[in-house]
Amino acid sequence: MIMTAERQRPTAVTLPKTATVTVGLDVGGTKTEALLVDEDRQPLAQTQCPTDTTSPEGVMDSIVTAVNTALEEVGIAPAQIGAIGIGVPGLVRPQDGAVQLAANLNLQEYALGEAVTAVFPAPVILENDVRLAAIGAYQHLRVQQPIQHMAYLSIGTGIAAGVVLDGRLWRGAYGMAGEIGHIVVEPDGAICACGQRGCLETIASGPAIAGMAARLMRPNPVINLTADNVYQAAQAGDSVAQTIVQHVSYYLSHAIQWLIMSYDVEKVVLGGGVAQSGSAFLDPILSELSRMRAESRLAETMLGADKIMLLPYGFNAGVWGAITLAQKGD
Ligand SMILES: [Zn+2]
Repeated sequence: MIMTAERQRPTAVTLPKTATVTVGLDVGGTKTEALLVDEDRQPLAQTQCPTDTTSPEGVMDSIVTAVNTALEEVGIAPAQIGAIGIGVPGLVRPQDGAVQLAANLNLQEYALGEAVTAVFPAPVILENDVRLAAIGAYQHLRVQQPIQHMAYLSIGTGIAAGVVLDGRLWRGAYGMAGEIGHIVVEPDGAICACGQRGCLETIASGPAIAGMAARLMRPNPVINLTADNVYQAAQAGDSVAQTIVQHVSYYLSHAIQWLIMSYDVEKVVLGGGVAQSGSAFLDPILSELSRMRAESRLAETMLGADKIMLLPYGFNAGVWGAITLAQKGD
């Protein structure tokens, strides 16, 4: 497979040969993104390349290509890398740098941390991609306001949350804290990829929204409707799309309520592919929360609209979270 790394944000920075840099990586099912920062977290280079998921070696090649392209851009030697943080969509063991299962990357029980250290001799820390995005979103928010407790809810191909409590990522006993996409909300509902019926993910994920649209909106068979098409159609006044969006928003507003009532967070930040529909995505959720507030004093106290926000458009929380974790070393 030919790897062509796309260069972004070209920079004229030249660092002394003794400077140490940190690498943040977000290894997704379609693309691998790398961010290189200096000791003051100033971005030096950001690159991305397609992820080759045909084999573990392919995934490694993608990582090496993304990192080398970033290093070459600013003329830095691999020996100057101080630490590497990597986000992976799946179940990981941060303590030994292994990917237990990442279906979209075709990895199972793979010692990714070890493989990366063999190429770039630096400490490598691995974490689930949504948890890393939670750390990235938290750091981003913290610059603007004092905040200690936050949940990041990612709505994309899957649904999951990352929870930051007292300024630290909350992993839980098995690294599963925040996997709310698999909370059963319709016990007689559709079968989920996890084997249960009626998980939140079977209703409100991108593919679930697109599937509902395919059943209800009678699309042109040539055009595959996406979740974004549904949100845009709803905003443009399509009544069937509005019904779908209302249904999805009902469940997502409840997911936000679970996060707030379970963890008493100050903010819930919404991100992921589906959230990129922007106000068409957010406004119906805010309306649903407003309805909940009108019916209950408790909801009025706990579910204020000021607690809910979208991840800023274009901000790559995943790679920034990877940088933070790599620099902190935990
Ligand atoms: Zn499930």
